[in-house]
Amino acid sequence: MAGGRDGGAGRKLVFLGPPGSGKGTQAQILAQELGVPAISTGEMLRGAVAAGTELGSKVEGIMNSGALVDDDTMAEVVRERLARDDAREGFLLDGYPRTLPQAETLAGILADSGGHLDAVVLLDAPEQELVDRALARKRADDKEEVVRERLRVYRQKTEPLVGYYEARGLLRRVDGLGTVEAVSARLLGAVS
Ligand code: ADP
Repeated sequence: MAGGRDGGAGRKLVFLGPPGSGKGTQAQILAQELGVPAISTGEMLRGAVAAGTELGSKVEGIMNSGALVDDDTMAEVVRERLARDDAREGFLLDGYPRTLPQAETLAGILADSGGHLDAVVLLDAPEQELVDRALARKRADDKEEVVRERLRVYRQKTEPLVGYYEARGLLRRVDGLGTVEAVSARLLGAVS
């Protein structure tokens, strides 16, 4: 095995949770602890917007409205990212999948290289806490109505993934309330 730890638990992980759950912050910490890359599709798309690429101009308006980018576009972005060397032994996917078709696409991408997901971590927190936290940030898509729209989209399109992964025995729930340190300790416990 090439470098890194080779513990019993696999390290191909999906990080699931509503906007404002603290996922982005925790993904960085957890990925570092596990020695895998944190792959955030939101960050990749924001990078594309900032760089003014074709992908960026396609997704900018969609992102600013709180809606989801289409599944085919996301499939291309994720397939390409997971094909890179650093993701071969493991990864922590943050922000993907966000719909049931995306979950099927991900399973297909991994199966193509003889792999599979090892666990899906769900970081959760009460709705009002999520809105308050998101509004405390200063991002272009963090206006209150956009925040509420992103939460609505999450409930409608992404929350069904909880049952999907639960049925496959992959889901681990973690409480997102508390200090950054307390939550990251819980997360590490959940995937170890
Ligand atoms: P959050 O603040 O909810 O964690 P992200 O940074 O993950 O948001 O994503 C920001 C935006 O990027 C989303 O609202 C959506 O428009 C787009 N996006 C990111 N990942 C996906 C995806 N897997 N499918 C569709 N759209 C996505």
